[in-house]
Amino acid sequence: MSKSTTAVMDKIVSLCKRRGFVFPASEIYGGQGSTYDWGPLGVELKRRVKEAWWRSMVYDRQDVVGLDSAIIQSPEVWRASGHVDGFTDPLIDNKTSKQRYRADHLVEARIEKYRRQGKEERAAALQEKLTAALGDNQALRRLILEEGIKCPVSGTDDWTEVRQFNLMFQTWVGPVQDSAAVAWLRPETAQGIFINFNNVVTATRKKLPFGIAQIGKSFRNEITPGNFVFRTREFEQMEMEYFCRPEEAERWFDYWQQERFRWYLDLGVDPEKLRLRQHTSDELAHYAAGCGDVEYLFPFGWSELEGIANRTDYDLKRHTEASGVQLSWFDQERNEHIVPYVIEPAAGCDRTAMTFLVDAYDEEGEGKDRRVVLHLHPRIAPVTVAVFPLVKKEGMPEKAAEIEQELRRRFTTAIELNQSIGRRYRRQDEIGTPFCVTVDGDTLADDTVTLRERDSMSQERVPVSELAGVIDQRIADWRRPEKASVA
Ligand code: ATP
Repeated sequence: MSKSTTAVMDKIVSLCKRRGFVFPASEIYGGQGSTYDWGPLGVELKRRVKEAWWRSMVYDRQDVVGLDSAIIQSPEVWRASGHVDGFTDPLIDNKTSKQRYRADHLVEARIEKYRRQGKEERAAALQEKLTAALGDNQALRRLILEEGIKCPVSGTDDWTEVRQFNLMFQTWVGPVQDSAAVAWLRPETAQGIFINFNNVVTATRKKLPFGIAQIGKSFRNEITPGNFVFRTREFEQMEMEYFCRPEEAERWFDYWQQERFRWYLDLGVDPEKLRLRQHTSDELAHYAAGCGDVEYLFPFGWSELEGIANRTDYDLKRHTEASGVQLSWFDQERNEHIVPYVIEPAAGCDRTAMTFLVDAYDEEGEGKDRRVVLHLHPRIAPVTVAVFPLVKKEGMPEKAAEIEQELRRRFTTAIELNQSIGRRYRRQDEIGTPFCVTVDGDTLADDTVTLRERDSMSQERVPVSELAGVIDQRIADWRRPEKASVA
């Protein structure tokens, strides 16, 4: 990472800690590498992300239902899905530093370096070589040596062979820790959906095409986690499996790519920093007929937020073969069993929350007017309205509490009594609160308050009786403002 990109990320990480979005996990014991706890504001942010996702994927539609499957399933699930044999990353060790790296990530870092230096052609050529080498341990190692890639810790290039390492966390179920008791924590929520296909069809009588959506924790023993909460070993996924007739799969694949791309834009993400990238045929997972990634331009480069894949009938067929239970849909009109194709939009909740934070972060003004602000979409912001009494006397705190209580029925609210009004605005700006309401001497006389907007900093007098309606309208009309800084 260049100095300026680390600087921006450092500021965001520090804001997250200071204001209670994200804390390093097990901090009082020195921390647990790349593991994080979401604080009081962070948990609200994540809830909003999940609510927005569930609303658009389940509530706003007729054709998708929800599910919450177990994290620990029968080990047979992961044998059938291919995860026991195939869910691996290529690892390489540096003999001097004893550090272990993902071989493909070492090459990707080099490609990124070329890009930063403006060497687009070299970057593209190396990307092509990397794509060709994926899945071939020797070829990957050759590429690292050819490029003269050195260990960032020891500065040497005495690399071991490349080996495949399974990413699933293993545990034992029950009192005996033998091989018969081995189980895995799920590395994706999708398989819990496939194995419940018949149950859901029977229970809901859904007809093709239809989807099953799930939000929940997944676990991967990532070797090179990092970039804050972008890649961690424990994370929440938001996945939906959309089952359709095989001949309609292409159409739904296109549809879901557009739909998911639009979701990020609707929640205010900078269109200049969002792109949909199609996987090349070499990059595709063995089960996929197509995959498009929604990518965001983070300070550390373009990175995946979500993958939309055409998983074909691979998973249902694998589980049918392995379990002996036919997973299919009976078409009464045509009197035949169909094994549906599956389109899967798979997103990460933590990654999305981080994207909103990074995308919203801005520094504006100079000197005493300087402010740090999160231009979060009002639907995503942890607090929607903060209420302040101008001073802590003359009945203002009581009036503020009364107004806050009323607003609390419709919005997430906060009340702040201390410091100057200017300071209180700044503190709310920093956590992305879109609206502040100030109760002053006039409020007690004419029942109006000052409504101040985060992005424009404009202030206007609004009758208390109209406050909730005005805020609702502003939320509906919200547009992402231009950012002031390059942050
Ligand atoms: P990557 O290439 O970044 O490892 P992936 O292609 O393996 O991701 P999928 O298996 O498609 O990811 O998972 C779907 C989504 O889950 C990802 O787009 C991402 O948002 C999220 N996700 C996957 N792994 C992690 C992780 N280790 N930490 C946080 N989020 C993750």
